[in-house]
Amino acid sequence: MSKDTEAMNTPAMRQYSEFKSQYPNSILFFRMGDFYEMFNEDAIIASKVLDIALTKRQNQIPMCGIPYHARDNYLSRLINSGHTVVICEQIKNDDPNTKLLSREVVRVISPGTIVEENLVKGFENNYLCLFFAENDRIHLIFADASTSELIPYSFYKNEKEKIQTQLKKFPPKEFLLFKEQALKWANLEILEFFPITILDSNLISIPKEGTLGEIKEVLKTFLERNFKEKNFILNENLEFSDGKFLEMDSNTVESLDLVENQSSGTKEKTLFSVLNFCVTAGGKRLLQKKILFPLLSEAKILNVQEKIELLSNNVKTRMNITEILAETSDLERLLSRFRAKRALPRDFKTVLDCIELAKKLQILLKDLSYLFDLSISELDILKEYLEFRLSTETLPPILGGDGQFLKNGFSEELDKAREAKSKGKDWIIELEEKEKIRSGFGTLKIKYNKVVGFYIELSRKEAANAPKHFLKKQTLVTTERFTLKELEDIERLILSADDTIQRIELLEFEKMREEVLSHFQVLTKLATNFSELDYHISLARCKDEYNWILPKIGKNNELILTDSRHPVVEKYLKLGDVFVKNSIQLDGNTNSIAILTGPNMAGKSTFMRQIALNQILFQMGSYVAAKEARFSIVDKLFTRIGAGDNLTAGESTFFVEMKEASYILNNRTEQSLILFDELGRGTSTYDGLSLAWGIIEYLSSLTIDSKRTKTIFATHYHELTELEKENGVFNLFMDTLEKEGEVTFLRKVKQGKAKKSFGIYVAKLAGIPKEIIDRAGEILSSLENNKKEIIAKRKKEETLFSIIEPSSPNLKKITDLLDRIDPNEISPKRAHELIYELKSFTAKQ
Ligand code: ATP
Repeated sequence: MSKDTEAMNTPAMRQYSEFKSQYPNSILFFRMGDFYEMFNEDAIIASKVLDIALTKRQNQIPMCGIPYHARDNYLSRLINSGHTVVICEQIKNDDPNTKLLSREVVRVISPGTIVEENLVKGFENNYLCLFFAENDRIHLIFADASTSELIPYSFYKNEKEKIQTQLKKFPPKEFLLFKEQALKWANLEILEFFPITILDSNLISIPKEGTLGEIKEVLKTFLERNFKEKNFILNENLEFSDGKFLEMDSNTVESLDLVENQSSGTKEKTLFSVLNFCVTAGGKRLLQKKILFPLLSEAKILNVQEKIELLSNNVKTRMNITEILAETSDLERLLSRFRAKRALPRDFKTVLDCIELAKKLQILLKDLSYLFDLSISELDILKEYLEFRLSTETLPPILGGDGQFLKNGFSEELDKAREAKSKGKDWIIELEEKEKIRSGFGTLKIKYNKVVGFYIELSRKEAANAPKHFLKKQTLVTTERFTLKELEDIERLILSADDTIQRIELLEFEKMREEVLSHFQVLTKLATNFSELDYHISLARCKDEYNWILPKIGKNNELILTDSRHPVVEKYLKLGDVFVKNSIQLDGNTNSIAILTGPNMAGKSTFMRQIALNQILFQMGSYVAAKEARFSIVDKLFTRIGAGDNLTAGESTFFVEMKEASYILNNRTEQSLILFDELGRGTSTYDGLSLAWGIIEYLSSLTIDSKRTKTIFATHYHELTELEKENGVFNLFMDTLEKEGEVTFLRKVKQGKAKKSFGIYVAKLAGIPKEIIDRAGEILSSLENNKKEIIAKRKKEETLFSIIEPSSPNLKKITDLLDRIDPNEISPKRAHELIYELKSFTAKQ
C-alpha cells in the first residue's frame, strides 16, 4: 500500500472519502473538533482562494483548515468565487463504545442557494436558474431561496434574444442544467457566463414529459438536497412572467443604464438610483423589477398613478408611513430562513414587530383610502400565539439555548430549571447553613467535584457520629463522604438544568417555527404589501424631489413631451450646470420618424435616452421628468445606442450593430418606439449612409391603419435630412452657437437640420495635437467639395441635366444656349421663353 493510500485508510479518512464521493464537484468542509478541514484537491483550491496555509496530513495528503467559528467569512469567499461548499458536521455519538464520531452533511451551500444572513449581500435577489430544453421550448426557472420566490419563463428555441434579455434582467448566481443537455447546448452563448452546476440524472430525475410541473419539481429536489429539508416551498411569482410588459431587448436594458450603470457596473447613476427612496430591502427589490418590467395595461398604469397621487398629496402622512416602514424587517428573507431552518429566536420578535407595524400602517392608510389588503385577524392569531410564549423582558438571544427566549410562567419545568441554574448556589449555601445547625458540625461544608458531584465530607471521627439522614456516598482513607436526600434533589435540578432548558427551548422553537410557517401565505402577503407601499412612496417622492409631473394617457400613438429632462443626467449635473429642457411631438403618422442631426457633444444621445426613460417611467405608472407629457402605451422599446462588439463570439462591431438593427426591424410593430443612434457608422461612410437611408425609407413606407413605428434617428449623415420629403419623416437638430471660432452647445432641440458636425472642433477640445487638427480641417474641406458630386448623383432625377442622357445631341444645344445667356441681363419675358425652349429639348429626347 503506498503512503498516500495508507494515509487515506484511517477510519476518519475513510469516512471523509465516502462523503466526498457523494459530492465530487464541491468543496467538503469536514468538521474535526474545532476546525473544518479540507483535503486533496479541495485543500489546494481553498488554500488559494482563501489565502491560507496548505499543509499535509501525515505528511502525505494536502490539507488546509479553518476554525469553525470563523466559518461564514471563509464560506462567502469560496461561494463568491463560484464554488459550492458542503458542510459535514460531527454528530453526538450515542454509542459510547465507538471511538469514531458520526458525521452528517447538514447543508450544501452553492452560489445560488444562500439564505444565511451573513452570506446574502445587501437587498438584491440571489437567483438560481434552471435551464431545461424540450421539443421546441426552452424553460428558464428562476428561484431565489433567500426570498422563496420562483419565476418561470418559457421561450421558443429561436428566441435567443429574449432568453438573453431575461438573463440580463435577473442575472443568476448559479445556472443548473442536466448533464444530458449540457453537451447539446454547450455552444449556446448564454451558458458562458455563469457558474454552472451540472445535474446528474441519477440523483435528480430528468423530466420525461417536460411539463412545467415536472421541471419545477427538479428545482425543488435540488433545493431540498442543498438544504437537507423536505418540502421546500417556493412562492410562484407570475407577476413578471406573463409576458404582458413593455418589451425591451437586452441591448436596451443595458444601454439605458436602467438598474446597472454600463460603465461602472454599479447601481450609481442609473434610473434605479434616481427612483430609489425605498427604505426597505423588499421595496428596493420590487423597484428594480418594476423598472425592468414596465406595464402594458392602461388600467394597471392608472391604478399605480392613483396610488402615488394619494401618497404624494398627503406629505405628512406619507412621512409617518415611511418612518414605520423603515422599522420593518426584510420579511421575505426572514420567512425563507424560517423555511430553511436557519431562523433564530430573535426572529420571532421580528415577526411580532412586523405585525404590530402592519396594524399601525393599516390605520394610516385607511385615512388615505389607500388599499392595504391584509387579513389582520389571521395575523392576530399568530401574534397571540407568539406573545404567549416569547419573553418580552429581554431581547431574545441570537442562538437557541443561549439565554432566555421563552417567557417565565410558560412552562413550569422550564421555570424550575432556570431557577436551579440561577439560584442553585444559594440553595446549596442555605442547605449547608441548615445542616451545620442540625448536625452540630460547625465546620460542615458542601463540596463539589466532577466525578462524585455534591457531597459533605466528614473526618472518620465525625462520620461515626453522623446523623441518620446523612447517606454514605464514598469512603476515602481518612474521610467519609455523604449526601442528603435534599442535596440529591438540588443536585439533580442543577445538573440537569442546562439540558432541560435546551430541550424545552429547542422543542418550543421548532413548534413556534412551524406555527409561523403555517401562516406563510399571509406573512408573504404582508411582505409584499410592505414592498409595494415602499415602492409607491418612492415614486410619490420623485414628484417633490425632482419636480416631476403626472403624465396623461394619449391616443393614436402620440408621444408629446414638453420641456422634458433626462432624469439621471439632471440629477447628477455638476454644481452650477443647468439641464436644458427639450420638447418633442411624435404621432406615428405625419410626424413619426424624426431625423435628429447636430454636432458631436450637442446632446443627441441624451435627448433620445430621456425620451426612452420617460416612456418607461410612464409605463411604470410613475411621474415623469417634464412640464407636460402625454404618452401612448408602447409595446416594444428598441434602442440602438452606442457600439458594442462580441469578439469572443467572432462578431465584429459592425456585424453586432447590423444584427441589432435587423432584430429591431424584424420585431417592431406600429405600437413600438425605436431609437437609432448613429446607425451605420461602423462601416464606410457610403455603406453606412446607404443603409441608414434605406432603413428610414423602409420605416416610412410601412404603415398599418396609417400608423408608422415612432422612430428617432440621430445621425451625423446630414444627407439623411433630405428624407424629410418622405411620408412621416421630419427633421430635428441640436442647436449650437458659433462665434469667432468658438462653439457653444446650446443643447436645444429645434425643427430643421444641423449645418455642421463640429467633429474636428470637439477633437480639438479633447486635446488632439494642433498639427492633426489643421490637417483634418484641410481634408474635411476637400471631402466636402467631392461630396457635392455624390449628392448630385443621388439627386439625378431632380436636375435638368440628369434627365437628359449624356450622349444626347440635345445636351450640347442646351449648354450652348445657356452659355449665351447672362442671368443678370435677361428680361423676365426672355427667361420665360427660355424655359419653354429648354422644355422642348427634354421632350424631344
Ligand atoms: P456624440 O454625437 O458625440 O455622441 P451627442 O450629441 O450624442 O454626442 P451627448 O452624449 O448626448 O451628445 O451629450 C454630451 C454631454 O452633454 C453629456 O455628457 C451630457 O452631460 C451633456 N448634455 C446633453 N444634453 C444636455 C442637456 N439637455 N442639458 C444639459 N446637459 C446636457
